[in-house]
Amino acid sequence: MTDLRELYQEVILDHSKKPRNYHRLEAANHEAEGYNPLCGDHIKVYLLVRDGVVEDVAFEGAGCAICTASASMMTQQIKGRSAEEVERLFRNFHALVTEEETLGTSREDLGKLEVFAGVRDYPVRVKCATLPWHTLHAALDNAGEPVTTE
Ligand code: ZN
Repeated sequence: MTDLRELYQEVILDHSKKPRNYHRLEAANHEAEGYNPLCGDHIKVYLLVRDGVVEDVAFEGAGCAICTASASMMTQQIKGRSAEEVERLFRNFHALVTEEETLGTSREDLGKLEVFAGVRDYPVRVKCATLPWHTLHAALDNAGEPVTTE
């Protein structure tokens, strides 16, 4: 657990212990489920989208600390944003944790999500951190099929 401890920065720990927006969203008009079989993470993301804007967002499920913290911080970052902005954040976040090229997008608006940059050194944990975002993406698309990281 020693190397993981470096990952568990204060912010991540706080969010994993006290996840924000952790509940079922009765008013949701978009939702999706996501699985990460590698770790056992399983979450559900609920969205209330009106006129292309995410008015409310919530999640529930059982995930490891990284997955739970990522989902918690994601919900805080996307509330009030347009679907386009959310998709851009998703790409930026993915680039942050995988260190792929950002394809002309900036990381400027990642804000607190920058704490997940350390995850890229732990390939197994990348899927834990990105699962909430993949699930969010599916919810926006209303894909219907559960998302899996495999
Ligand atoms: Zn996990």
